[in-house]
Amino acid sequence: MERYYQPEIECASREQIKAWQDERLVKQVRHVWDNVPYYRKKMEEKGLTPDDIKSSDDLYKLPFVTKADLREAYPYGLVAKPLKDCVRIQSTSGTTGKRVVAFYTQHDIDLWEDCCARAIVAAGGTNEDVCQVSYGYGLFTGGPGLNGGSHKVGCLTIPTSSGNTERQIMFIRDLSATILCCTPSYAAYLGETMKEMSLTPDQIPLKAGIFGAEAWSEEMRQDIQNTLGIKAYDIYGLTELSGPGVSFECSAQSGMHINEDHFIAEIIDPDTGEVLPEGSKGELVFTSITKEAFPLLRYRTRDICMLTREKCSCGRTHVKMCKPMGRSDDMLIIRGVNVFPSQIETVLLNHGYPANYQIIVDRVRSTDTLDVQVEMTPEMFTDNLGEIDRRQKDLVDGLRSMLGLAAKVTLVAPKSIVRSEGKAVRVIDKRKI
Ligand SMILES: [Zn+2]
Repeated sequence: MERYYQPEIECASREQIKAWQDERLVKQVRHVWDNVPYYRKKMEEKGLTPDDIKSSDDLYKLPFVTKADLREAYPYGLVAKPLKDCVRIQSTSGTTGKRVVAFYTQHDIDLWEDCCARAIVAAGGTNEDVCQVSYGYGLFTGGPGLNGGSHKVGCLTIPTSSGNTERQIMFIRDLSATILCCTPSYAAYLGETMKEMSLTPDQIPLKAGIFGAEAWSEEMRQDIQNTLGIKAYDIYGLTELSGPGVSFECSAQSGMHINEDHFIAEIIDPDTGEVLPEGSKGELVFTSITKEAFPLLRYRTRDICMLTREKCSCGRTHVKMCKPMGRSDDMLIIRGVNVFPSQIETVLLNHGYPANYQIIVDRVRSTDTLDVQVEMTPEMFTDNLGEIDRRQKDLVDGLRSMLGLAAKVTLVAPKSIVRSEGKAVRVIDKRKI
């Protein structure tokens, strides 16, 4: 029996969802017009006033907001509530430039935690569960978001945060944790470590995992499910919009339901900005219609994605998004070819390699080079050079047929690639352009 955290919302009729979106969007546009000069100016430049937005059908008229806007408006330029009404900030890691700082009222946090609670219940969580939150706590949204959601569901929550793998495993075993929340790369690493400790899936009390904050492939899901003996669910979110829980997977494990009572999703052509018809592949754009302190209208996520309103076996009625097929920010252009790291990962896992790899891009005498370093599993590890050579050639062929591009493959010894406790560093781009 499928369970829901807020059934009246999660299974509402399409008409009801549209009515919520219409009403909330109109109110949100008025809110930013009145309180955020930055938005008012952007709307005025397009000749718009709040009266032009009468329902969600008028959404396409509004200007986009990009990460560049967030950086330009840093730190207070997009805050729509007096700071005395704000109670928290969260922030992006800032690995690709200036940090983005997002603001929350207590009401914003409450709704965000509801979204995370929906994800935990969709993964089978109840107040009987012990939920270990191994996402980083602090400025990163992963820990605080799932922590709040876990409390709302009534799970016994273990706020381990990331790191200290030995202690993570000790708590999972001693306190019989049933749900694990962390990045997929860390889940894979925990699985690998438990395997080394000769723990079999039936000796691991976990039954489900909620993994997000980085791209991961279907093959990696299978891998984690098998090693930990769990069902692995995807969760999606962005600090700019609140954090994890913008969308989440249900028992169908085939795409993530977007919480449409809080976010309106669009797919656009990333080059022209034109809204594309349902089922098209394009850039995912979100409008937050309930956020008070940091509302974003038509925020361009850079994620390449597709939406589907096909009926879902779980009974939820909210639109589903597929796993992002790569962030257009993450997309590498190598010798003119678009390459997503997730494509490379798929080839590696299909050939039986673990998801421990690094992609090194460089430019030698004005030609781009792609070097993929891949760890062998302990079972594959050998000093037979002929065997290593054969394996490398296999992967080169696999990558060529996936990417349409020649790559160099270097197999390296087990455990030689540094493990990450949060988001894994997969790509090193050494090109100076
Ligand atoms: Zn579903």
